[in-house]
Amino acid sequence: MKILKGKSAANGIAQGIVFVYSVRDLSLDRGQYHTITPEQIPDEIGRLEEGFDRAKNTLTKMIDIGKESLDRNNLNIFNFHLELLKDKALYEKSIQRIKEQNVNAQHAIRETFEEYIKSFKQKELHFSDLINDFVDIRNRILESFGKLSGRLQFPVGKEGPFIVASKLLIPSMLLEISRENVLAFITNEGSLTSHATILARSYRVPIVFGIDVEKHLKTGDDVIVDGFSEEIVVNPDQRTKDFYSRKIEQVAKKEIIIDTTKDQAAMTKDGQRITLKININSLDEVNYIKQLNHDGIGLLRTEFLFMGRTESPTEEEQFNIYKQILECSDGTSVTVRLLDLDTGKLPAYLTVPGHYSIDLGLRGSHAVDVFYDTYLTQAKALLRASMYGNLKILYPMVSDNNDLQIFRRLISNAKNILKKKKVKFDTKVSEGIMIETPSAAISAQELLSEVGFANIGTNDLLQYILAVSRDISIIEERYHILHPSLVKFLELIVRAGKKLNKEVCLCGAIASYEPFYHLFLELGFKSFSIPVFNFNNIKYCINQISPSKTGVLLTKFFTNKNKKQLDKFFAQLS
Ligand code: PEP
Ligand code: MG
Repeated sequence: MKILKGKSAANGIAQGIVFVYSVRDLSLDRGQYHTITPEQIPDEIGRLEEGFDRAKNTLTKMIDIGKESLDRNNLNIFNFHLELLKDKALYEKSIQRIKEQNVNAQHAIRETFEEYIKSFKQKELHFSDLINDFVDIRNRILESFGKLSGRLQFPVGKEGPFIVASKLLIPSMLLEISRENVLAFITNEGSLTSHATILARSYRVPIVFGIDVEKHLKTGDDVIVDGFSEEIVVNPDQRTKDFYSRKIEQVAKKEIIIDTTKDQAAMTKDGQRITLKININSLDEVNYIKQLNHDGIGLLRTEFLFMGRTESPTEEEQFNIYKQILECSDGTSVTVRLLDLDTGKLPAYLTVPGHYSIDLGLRGSHAVDVFYDTYLTQAKALLRASMYGNLKILYPMVSDNNDLQIFRRLISNAKNILKKKKVKFDTKVSEGIMIETPSAAISAQELLSEVGFANIGTNDLLQYILAVSRDISIIEERYHILHPSLVKFLELIVRAGKKLNKEVCLCGAIASYEPFYHLFLELGFKSFSIPVFNFNNIKYCINQISPSKTGVLLTKFFTNKNKKQLDKFFAQLS
């Protein structure tokens, strides 16, 4: 028996047999690359053209199949691949290589894609999502010359559903495996925001990244995937199996109870009404909100509109999407955050001036200065959409009043342009700030007095308090994600909200952890925004708590001296 620690991308527990999906890297198959004579060039260009055509046809067929099983947003991922395949640049660069370097079609394709992938890698993290898309397209074209790049070791589903393990998730692999045949996903590599992860999450099964699949797993292994504890257990002994069978049973039972209470509002056991909203990261997730009894969208991260494409979305495109979301929300508030750029979320077409560092330089209002037109387009689209629901505009990474004024001027310019064009918008749209720097937290009262509401972004706040990357694996090793210093800042912010009678909504990842709620409620939080996938669980958890009014828990919390003690403290609360 082996227990391996990974990183969870989706909750839940599954127990079953592993099926290893081997992604064979055709680009490494030297056998298919060779040089050609100048006379062979026209034929080779013909082969290249046929290869691209075959790849386009296969993809078109896959999109047709996908139309039955995928929603529009997921389908767009494959439409995006088709667009890239149709893009002249990839094709023409490959032809140029055949002509200038006298190489065969496969060689030219591999080199052309390699050039793109290499440049993405050099440009750092924000291109990593696009790399997998390019690998997928490259494999599809190379595959069209006769060899398979991804291989099912035996047909998934033939002998029942499996836990699918793979070096990485690629979008087309997911199309090959229908959702009823998957119990869980385990991978080496993974990004929480990649197209493939978005697709995999829609399967609603646990997903754990960061496991060396090649080293630790083979098809046929008996495995438990625990998306809650971010662990996998390989070939568990009987005792562990029994333990997990009970845990799976408990989770299932709890889910039944949660299901029966899902229509109730979020309220503590002693009758305090709590505002519970939803974080939305993709259009996909909007489809689920209709099924939840929620108090609105507390954080719409708009980055998904800008990522995975070759140019900024137009005002019209954005307007239609914001309008669609507002109409879906039945009058509940929709808090839309203006584009929040960081290393992991920088679209390929926005070029950062050399002297800027992204994480400590080009965030919040600085990004507005550099990419003013992009923000102005977004502001206009949002204001126009404000006619269709209860819109609130949220400014990211506001550290001080100066930042706030930059965002204000942006909105005011957008309003003036619309007024001149006689375009209607709601003149009373509420504006709020993200509190996610120590500066904003300390000045919470001054900043809050200027705006309608605040959201607390603890993911960033914690990294800037501790000077440690928000990469959870680092935080997890040494620091508790509800670090006592963070809690001291939270106390300050909640107090400011209470004093001014303004909504302060906790929307960072810590709001997804059930054991923390005793403390959050005792601190006086009345508003949270959490991901769709564990919305009902958190609501149920709130319904079970009668928060102490004496501050006894908080005092006890501060007596813990290190991460180990804090882990124990919260384990006792859960
Ligand atoms: C945060 O920083 O906690 C937050 C909610 O924003 P994001 O995770 O999108 O940076
Ligand atoms: Mg943030």
